[in-house]
Amino acid sequence: MSNLSDIGTIRDIMQRHGFSFSKGLGQNFLINPTVCPRMAELGGANERSGILEIGPGIGVLTAELAKRARHVAAIELDDRLLPVLAETLADFSNVHVIHGDVMKLNLATIIAEEFADCDEIAVCANLPYYITSPVIMNLLESRLPVKSVTVMVQKEAADRICAPVGSRKSGALTVAVHYYAVPETLFKVSRGSFMPPPNVDSAVIRMTVRETLLFDVGDEKVFFSMVKAGFSQRRKTLSNSLTSGGFLTRTQAAEALSGADIAPNTRIEALNMEGLACLSRNISGLLK
Ligand code: SAM
Repeated sequence: MSNLSDIGTIRDIMQRHGFSFSKGLGQNFLINPTVCPRMAELGGANERSGILEIGPGIGVLTAELAKRARHVAAIELDDRLLPVLAETLADFSNVHVIHGDVMKLNLATIIAEEFADCDEIAVCANLPYYITSPVIMNLLESRLPVKSVTVMVQKEAADRICAPVGSRKSGALTVAVHYYAVPETLFKVSRGSFMPPPNVDSAVIRMTVRETLLFDVGDEKVFFSMVKAGFSQRRKTLSNSLTSGGFLTRTQAAEALSGADIAPNTRIEALNMEGLACLSRNISGLLK
């Protein structure tokens, strides 16, 4: 099998298949040969594991996953890449390419069908950046039976996701990810590692999914509404951000904050997970 991170090989494949990059689909293909083996190793690909990949492109990461994992299922939206993948992955009998939109497919069903004989399941992907947040949230919120989610994202997104909750860099996505998982940055990847090069650097992050949820937030729906209301006006004090969008009345906000022992002029970005969970429990009690 040819080297799929080699620029000459990629050009040859593109020419023979009449393929051109689609910016709209976030098509930046990896040309740095060290990245995919590292991602596959750190992303949980081993003889017992099933790996779900999103956006295989021409299969550069898929091949490294297939060398190590028991089974790989790769979801690709661009039908022009299907004949390419049939060629580049022809040597592997343990890969199934699924044509479809990751945002529309039922991932729980795919996982149940694809990985019945695997002992553990992980997600490993170089994500299309235009859907980074919804894909990550969809994977975590659905409580899929996956051990970890290892993805390449924009460096800025990696910094935000991995920031400690309760720091100025944190946001609604930070809180949501920390609720479901333990995120960490594994390594950085420069923009020159891609063809064509994107305008930003990237990083590979791993989110190890919590087997049991650590934080008692009361009503989960209330928790996520609170986080959304707080961070959509993050510079405002909690007594203002929780009320101005109509989420709570002034009286409810005052009662919930004092019940959680939080000063009304606190900003949401100053609260750690315990503080957010405590406030959410109080609000859940009031809105019951
Ligand atoms: N894995 C390859 C690599 O590392 O070189 C390609 C990664 S590229 C950043 C993102 C890939 O996701 C492209 O192949 C693109 O066609 C695919 N893609 C874009 N939107 C998608 C979607 N909604 N569902 C599934 N795949 C998608």
